[in-house]
Amino acid sequence: MQQENLWAPWRTKYIQGLSRPGGCFICDYMKSPGADEENLVLWRTEKSVVVLNRFPYNNGHLLIAPVRHIPDLAAAQEAELLEITKLIRETQKALSLTIKPHGFNVGMNFGRCAGAGLPEHMHVHVVPRWDGDTNFMSVCSETKVISQSLTELYRLLVETSQKHSLPRL
Ligand SMILES: [Zn+2]
Repeated sequence: MQQENLWAPWRTKYIQGLSRPGGCFICDYMKSPGADEENLVLWRTEKSVVVLNRFPYNNGHLLIAPVRHIPDLAAAQEAELLEITKLIRETQKALSLTIKPHGFNVGMNFGRCAGAGLPEHMHVHVVPRWDGDTNFMSVCSETKVISQSLTELYRLLVETSQKHSLPRL
């Protein structure tokens, strides 16, 4: 049994919420740029979008997705792949400058069986990690470990982005 999983009970609600047929929150966000702050959309680039995950595995959990509603890498264009890869670099920069993680998990899930909450629209998870965060969470599983509010963190990331002209693609 792997003991390295992060404890994130609120993810259940997320998975349940996403099971609505035909719903895609990324596409919904794309259609309403006026609501970027409310939707925690951090960056819009030519071919991609970066959002703060509302149901995070850890503080500062970002999602990078292509603008196009495509399920996987096979459907992605070269330019999208390049931009998304650069955005992994840029999100790490922004997070490092803002909340100083000790490390990162970066990954993708394809298919519901693999844990994808939104299997129809591919996205990359960028999850900041700190020394000892899993230990703390496994010991205090009832504790809400993410104390910084999402809106507060969103504003800090916007500030960092402006100050350092991020993303630089
Ligand atoms: Zn979509």
